[in-house]
Amino acid sequence: MILTTDNGTPFYRFENLAACADIGHGIFTRNAGCSPPPFNSLNVGHGIGDDDSRVETNRRTIGRCFRGAELVYARQVHGRQVIILADYPGGQGATPHPAAPVVGDAIVTDQRQKYLVIQVADCQSVLLYEPVRQAVANLHCGWRGSVQNIIGRTVETMVLHFDCSPANIIAGIGPSLGPCCAEFINYKAEIPPALWGYKDSTDHFDFWSISRDQMVQAGVAPENIESSRICTRCRADEFFSYRSEKTTGRFAAVIGLR
Ligand SMILES: [Zn+2]
Repeated sequence: MILTTDNGTPFYRFENLAACADIGHGIFTRNAGCSPPPFNSLNVGHGIGDDDSRVETNRRTIGRCFRGAELVYARQVHGRQVIILADYPGGQGATPHPAAPVVGDAIVTDQRQKYLVIQVADCQSVLLYEPVRQAVANLHCGWRGSVQNIIGRTVETMVLHFDCSPANIIAGIGPSLGPCCAEFINYKAEIPPALWGYKDSTDHFDFWSISRDQMVQAGVAPENIESSRICTRCRADEFFSYRSEKTTGRFAAVIGLR
């Protein structure tokens, strides 16, 4: 990934997505925001103990990096619901009201200037772009998302709803819990045997590889998938990590059509 700064706000970009002129995207760090510890400092998550007005200030800081665009947040629930932005009640082009955000863990749209935001602290954000049909998706994938294959469901939604071709999709897997830190001592109760092949002898799972393989199974070309390979728990100085800190903020992953 490439580290960029806009008006003093640092964020990362995937090299493959940064080469696409029709989209904007960024993986923000936990730094350069206004929230005090333990939410220091660029926390975009409401409802986790941080002051709402500070969260809104942080969200405006991120918004300034995508001038003219509207940022769309979802209420994430570790489920498998894929939100199609064009289908939101209110009709084509309607945007969820901030007080009543849409509920779901993946958002797909073909609308320009609607930038999709996923909030994470150890879970993966996965950014998808289909340049021929001009559609983008952003999804939240923790272990529950991996078990429910929300990645495959999101690619399927892009195909069914926007006529996308999986082979055209360009993808980025954001900073998240790496195989170094993803220990699941209760894996027999939580994770189905089909995924046990991604576990090492110390019960650590490689969710980065699970996501890559789920994308390939959905038809995405391996060479179009870029993984940040940054572990949030190892790099809690730069990213929020739930496993590292328990009470902590959420950092933002953003993608949208210009
Ligand atoms: Zn780690």
